Amino acid sequence: MDTPQIVEAIQKGVNTFMETVPPLMKALDEVAKVYPFISATVVAFRAAYTLEKKRRENDKRVLAIYNEMKDMMSILVRLNSVSDPGQIAPDGLTIEERMQKLCEAAAEDIKHCANVCDTYLKKKVLTKVLTAPTWEGKLLRFVGVFAKRREEFELALATSHTTIDADAADLHEVVSTTCLRMDIMLQLFQDYATPRERELVAMVKKLGGSGVLENEQAMEELAAYALAGAHAGPESRQAPQGRPFGFVELQQEIKCDPEEAIEKNAEFFNRKFDIQRRQIVEDIARAVNREGDRIISVVTAGPHDRIFDPDIYKIWREMGWRGSVKSRHFIMALKDYYVEKAVEDSGLLIGEDSWAVKYINIGRARTIMEAFDDDASGFITVNEVNNFTRSRPLDWSLPHWIAYWAIGWQMTCTTYCVKIEEIFDAMIRLAYEVLPENRRGVNLYIASTWHMITVFVQSIKREKGTEDLRTKFESHVTAEEARLRRNFEDLNYISQPGFHQIIIAGEGRIEMTLFPMFYLALKRDLEKISLARKHVLTDHETYESLVTILSIAGAALDRINSLRSIFEQQSLEVKDQFEIFAKGLYKISSVNELVFDGNKLRGLPDPIPCRNEIIPDPDSVPLSILNHPLGKAHEINFAAYDIPEPTLQPVEGTHPMLGVYYGFIYHYRQPADPMLKLTLTAGEGNREFVATGRHYRGSRYRSYTLTGNWGASSEGGKIPVEFKFTYSTKDWANTELKGAYDCDENSIRGTMVMPNCQRSGVFIFKRDPDFVRFYPAPSVINARRRWEFAITSVLDRVRREAWSARYIVKRLKDRKRWMELTIREYYGRNLTRDEGKELYALFPGLYEADAQFYASLISIHLSKTNIFNLIECDKCDSIPGGSRIVCIDPDCRNETTTVDLCSEPECINSTVTFEEADRKKHLPNHGMFKVHRMIFDRDTARIESLAKDALDSVRGTISQLKKDQKPMPECTRCKTTVSLPCWCCVECTGERFICDDCEHKQLAFDGTHTKMHTIVRVSEKGDKKVFTMEERMRLVEDELAKVRETLAKLVEKSTQGSQSEPLTKGDLRAAAIGLSEPTQSEVGTETTESA
Ligand SMILES: [Zn+2]
Ligand SMILES: [Zn+2]
Ligand SMILES: [Zn+2]
Ligand SMILES: [Zn+2]
Repeated sequence: MDTPQIVEAIQKGVNTFMETVPPLMKALDEVAKVYPFISATVVAFRAAYTLEKKRRENDKRVLAIYNEMKDMMSILVRLNSVSDPGQIAPDGLTIEERMQKLCEAAAEDIKHCANVCDTYLKKKVLTKVLTAPTWEGKLLRFVGVFAKRREEFELALATSHTTIDADAADLHEVVSTTCLRMDIMLQLFQDYATPRERELVAMVKKLGGSGVLENEQAMEELAAYALAGAHAGPESRQAPQGRPFGFVELQQEIKCDPEEAIEKNAEFFNRKFDIQRRQIVEDIARAVNREGDRIISVVTAGPHDRIFDPDIYKIWREMGWRGSVKSRHFIMALKDYYVEKAVEDSGLLIGEDSWAVKYINIGRARTIMEAFDDDASGFITVNEVNNFTRSRPLDWSLPHWIAYWAIGWQMTCTTYCVKIEEIFDAMIRLAYEVLPENRRGVNLYIASTWHMITVFVQSIKREKGTEDLRTKFESHVTAEEARLRRNFEDLNYISQPGFHQIIIAGEGRIEMTLFPMFYLALKRDLEKISLARKHVLTDHETYESLVTILSIAGAALDRINSLRSIFEQQSLEVKDQFEIFAKGLYKISSVNELVFDGNKLRGLPDPIPCRNEIIPDPDSVPLSILNHPLGKAHEINFAAYDIPEPTLQPVEGTHPMLGVYYGFIYHYRQPADPMLKLTLTAGEGNREFVATGRHYRGSRYRSYTLTGNWGASSEGGKIPVEFKFTYSTKDWANTELKGAYDCDENSIRGTMVMPNCQRSGVFIFKRDPDFVRFYPAPSVINARRRWEFAITSVLDRVRREAWSARYIVKRLKDRKRWMELTIREYYGRNLTRDEGKELYALFPGLYEADAQFYASLISIHLSKTNIFNLIECDKCDSIPGGSRIVCIDPDCRNETTTVDLCSEPECINSTVTFEEADRKKHLPNHGMFKVHRMIFDRDTARIESLAKDALDSVRGTISQLKKDQKPMPECTRCKTTVSLPCWCCVECTGERFICDDCEHKQLAFDGTHTKMHTIVRVSEKGDKKVFTMEERMRLVEDELAKVRETLAKLVEKSTQGSQSEPLTKGDLRAAAIGLSEPTQSEVGTETTESA
C-alpha cells in the first residue's frame, strides 16, 4: 500500500470504528466457541471497546489507536479457516499450544493501551497541547505493539498450514510498514486536534513556541487564557468534574512524568477494567443455553424470527408485528396470551407459574412496559424483547421474570427504602457521639446525603407485598446485591468518573439498581461513622463518601434529564409522566433538584427508628474499611515553645543573608497577621534559598513553602532578594515578595503582591523578634513614630526581663483577648470596626510560638462547639455557635423558612424586621425553641411541632396559675420564682422551668436535663395576624432559593481542598459569591476532562 491508501484506510477505520466493532465482535464470539483459548483476548477487547463507547465524546487520536487494536483482533477470525483444530503442525505443536501465550500477552497489551489512552484523555487541554510530543509518542507506540502481535498471530496461523517459517524479508517489510504507518498517524493526529486545542497551539506559538514552558510569565498568561476559555466556553459543560483549578495545579500536571501518571491511573483503571471483563463473562454465560429458547436460523422470514423466547415469538408472529410495536399493544397481547394459555393448558401452566401470570394485568402494565422498553420510547423492539428475556435469572421462567417487574421490583425498592431510613436514623444517633474532631465531617455528610437520597426514598410509591412473594424473588435480589457489593468493594467505594456505570457495569436503567446502590454505600458509611466514635478520621474519609453518594444521585439526575427530553419529544405532560414513571420514583426530584424545601420537610412522615442491632460496634469494624490513615487528635501545642532559641548569627560557611528572620507583612498600615518566622536555608541552585513551615494566616494555620533567590550586591551594598510563599493546595493567598537585604541592618525589606487577589503591601524581616514587634508599618513611618517605637520596645524588653507583674497580666490579657476575637471569626457576634482594629493591634504583641500555642487552643475549642454554619442570626447576622434559637410562631414561620436567632440576650429580646415588604415582624414574645445540639433537616419539623405542643401546655399551666392567683413556678436550678419570659424543657418529664439567667449562663444542665434537650421560650402571648395566601406563595418562592443556595454552598465547600479546619465566615462569603457550580456538576460521568 502506498501512503495515500494508508491514510484513507486509517481515516475510514477511525470514522467507522464504533459501527465496525460489533460485527467483528460477533464473529470473534463464534470463533471463541471453537477455540476457547482466544476468549481472554476477545473479552479484553470487548471491555476496552465498551468503556470507550461509554465516553460522551471520543477522541479521534484514541480511536486511531483502537483501530490498530481492532486490526490485530480481526486476524483471529481467520482461525475459522483452520481445517483441523487438533492437528499437530510440523513443529510438533497444536494451534492452541502455539497461540495460548500469544493471546494472553495480547490481552495484557489491550488493557495497558486502554489505560494509557484513559490517562491521556483525563489531561487538561493545555497539558495535552504542551506535552503533545510525549503523549503522542506514548500512543503511537501501540501501533508498533499491535502490528507485532498481528504478525505473530499470522505467523502462528500460517505455521498450522505450512511448514515454512516466515522469512526474514517479510518481517523486515512489516517493520518498515509500521514505521511508515506511525509517521502517517502522527500527521493525522494534527488533523484530529479539537478546535480548542488548535486555538491553544496558536496561543503557544504567539507566546514563543516550546520555550513557553521555561517562561513563567508566558505560562501564566497562557494558563489564564486556558482557564478563561475553560469556564466560559462549551468545554465547561463537557467537564462535569470541571472544578475550577488553579495555575499551580496546571503546572503540576504539566511537570508530571507521564509514566508515573499512567501507573497512577492504572490503580483505578485496572479495577474498572476488571469489573467490566467480569461483567462480560457473566453476560456471555447468561446469554447462552437458556432452556426453551428458540434456535435462530440464518434464514429469517420476518423480524419475529429473531426472537429467542418461544412465547413471545408466537405472539409477535400472530400479531404480524414488524421490528417494533407500541408498548401498550405489546403488553395487552402478552396478557391475553397468558390468560388464554392458562385456560387452554387448564392446569399445565397453572402449575408453577400460575401465581406469576396473575400479575401480568392491566393494573401493572405500566411497570412491565417500562421493563421491556429500555429507552422509554413507547415502542418495544425485537432487540429489547431479547435483552429482556435474556437478562432473567437462569432458573426463572418468563412469567416469573415479568412478575418481578410487575410487583417484585417495587417490593424490593420498598424494603431498601425502609433499610435506608433506618440507616439514616442510626447515623443521626451516632452523629452526637462521634469525637469532636469528626463532628464537622460527619454532620456535613449526613446533612447533604439525607436530602439527596430522601428525595427518591419519599417519592416512590411503596408496595409491601407478601412474605410468599418475597420468597419467590429473593434469589435474584440477593444475587444482585452481592454483585453490586463486589463491584463497590473492588473500587473501595471510591467514586471516580463513570462510577455508577462501572458499578452497574451494564447498560441497564438506573432504576434497577438505584436503591441497592444507595443502601450499600450508606451501610459502609454507617460503619465509618461508627468508627468515628473511637478514632479521628480525616475529613477526606467522609468527603469521599459524600462524593460517592453524589455520583449515584447525579446518575439519577442524568436519567431524569434524559427522560424529560424523551417525554417532551413524545409531547407528553412531563409532570404527569414523572408521577407515574417507575412508580413515581422521580416525582419529587423532577424539578432537577435534590433538596427539600421547608414545605416538603414538614410534610414528611415520621422517620423509621433504627433497631439497635444495625448500629455497628466500633470495636468490631475493621479499620481496613478506611481509605485514609487515621487523623490526629487536636492537642494543645506545647511543642510550640520547644523550638530552640534561634541563632542570630549567620551559620559559618553560608551566605550571611540566610538564617532566621522575624517580621510582618503589612496591609493597610497594619500587620496582616501575627508575626512570621522564617528560616531561610540554601536551596539547590546557586543563590537560591528555601523555607517551609506553618504560620498563622487569614485566621487559620497554613503550611507554606517558600522559594527565592538573591542577586549580586548593588552599589549601596544592598542585595536584591525575591521570594514567594506558596500555600499547599489552595493558591488563593500565594504571596510574592521583592526587596533587598541590607547587610548593615541585617534585615530584608520590600514590597509584596498577592497575584490572585490584587492585594499589595510591604514587609520587613529582621533578626530579632523584638526589633519588629512594635515597629510601625513602613508606610506610616516618621520621626515621631520611630521614637515611639524605640520607647515601646525598650519598655517592653525592660518589663519582660524584669517579669513585672503588670507585664505578665497584660500579656495574658492580650492573648485571651486575641483568642476571643479570633474565635468570633468563626461564630458569634461579628467583629465591629473597632474590634477589628483591636485584633490587628494585638498581632505585634504575639510571638510566633504564642500564636501557635493559642491557635491550638482555638481549634480545640472550635471542634467542641456546635457551629451552625448554615444559618445566620436574623437580628445580628452572626453565625450562631453553641446554641441556636428558632421562632415557631406561625406569623414568622412559613413553608420554607424560619426566624433564626443566636442566643445573645439582646437578639432574643429584639423585634426583627425584614426588608422584604411581605415578611412579618418577629416579636420577642413569640414562641421559640432553643437547641444546644446540631439538628438535622430530617428532624426540624418534628422538633418544631413538639416544641409547639409543649409551649401550648406550659402556657395553659401558667394561665391557670394566674387564674387561681397562685405563685409562678420555680427555676429548677436557682429555685427562685420565674418571671416571664423564661424557658421550659420539652423533653424532661413534668414541666421543668429554667429562669432566663440560669439558661444564659448555661447552669441548668445536670444528669437528667442535658444539652440534647430542646427547650422553649415562654412569654406572654401577643396578638397575631395570619398571612394571606399570596403573601405565603411569595415567601415560598423566595425562601426556596435560599435553601438551594445553602446546599450548594455546602457542597461547594465540601469539594474544595483543605478540610482540616472549620469554616470561617470568610469561607462562607466566598462560597456565596462563587455559587456557579450546581450540585450535579460534581458528579462524575465518563468523559474527558477538558481545559
Ligand atoms: Zn444574634
Ligand atoms: Zn417570631
Ligand atoms: Zn434560675
Ligand atoms: Zn430537659
